[in-house]
Amino acid sequence: MTSRTAIVTGAARGIGASVALRLAREGHAVAVLDLTEEMCAATVDAIRADGGRALAIGADVGDEAAVAAAFDVIEQQLGAPTILVNNAGIIRDNLLFKMATADWDAVMNVHLRGAFLVSRAAQAHMTRAGFGRIVNMSSSSALGNRGQANYAAAKAGIQGFTKTLAIELGRFGITVNSIGPGWIQTEMTAATAERIGVPFEEMLTQWAGQIPVGRVGQPEDIAHAVSFFVSEQAGFVSGQVLYVAGGPLD
Ligand code: NAD
Repeated sequence: MTSRTAIVTGAARGIGASVALRLAREGHAVAVLDLTEEMCAATVDAIRADGGRALAIGADVGDEAAVAAAFDVIEQQLGAPTILVNNAGIIRDNLLFKMATADWDAVMNVHLRGAFLVSRAAQAHMTRAGFGRIVNMSSSSALGNRGQANYAAAKAGIQGFTKTLAIELGRFGITVNSIGPGWIQTEMTAATAERIGVPFEEMLTQWAGQIPVGRVGQPEDIAHAVSFFVSEQAGFVSGQVLYVAGGPLD
């Protein structure tokens, strides 16, 4: 397999950290990007301990100047990026009548503006290389989820963004796909449990009971799907949304 430079956003923890580790294990040099360089240290250390190559990059994906600066450093230190996983995300859940405008904007800013800014910067390198793989993290919430009007809209938006980039960039050897995780055990879902006031373990058991394969997902389940989409052999798979949720979703 060709060793490439990969960027994983929101890779300090959770799904992003697992994806970064997996791509490094597959021989890619990985830019571990999160809000601050310090936050990325644990993932970078884990990759290096595993014999891989990684670089910590502190940047807010919604900040255009920070994204441009990050790409300069990544290109200089790891080489031109041709794999991108837009994974950074936040939740600001509330029922519509209680949702603050700031919480709507914050979610749009990270998921949609973030994926846009980072993808636009990445495509310049990918078109030049005649090869690229972009994977955008959507969610089962794109299908609608109580208390998540902002997040569901952003994650549905990610799917339209994915399909459009697939159409525009296909001729340059670039594929663009989206993954919609179901319930995955991370700090994000732990925060949801806390907000609702249910102990996390109890919530995991409840969720597992409703999932056909009988368990909640782990970050590695998503990393495995990312690994497929970024592989060279997946060059004919583009513009797709793959729900990784332990069963079918409507
Ligand atoms: P997480 O909260 O554990 O990790 C998200 C990471 O993104 C954090 O490290 C955070 O610092 C980083 N981040 C947030 N805003 C950022 C910004 N502006 N710039 C750079 N980094 C930023 O969440 P997770 O559960 O690992 O989720 C990862 C992705 O998967 C998110 O896009 C999330 O919406 C999506 N997702 C998660 C689940 C789930 O069940 N956990 C389900 C569906 C989709």
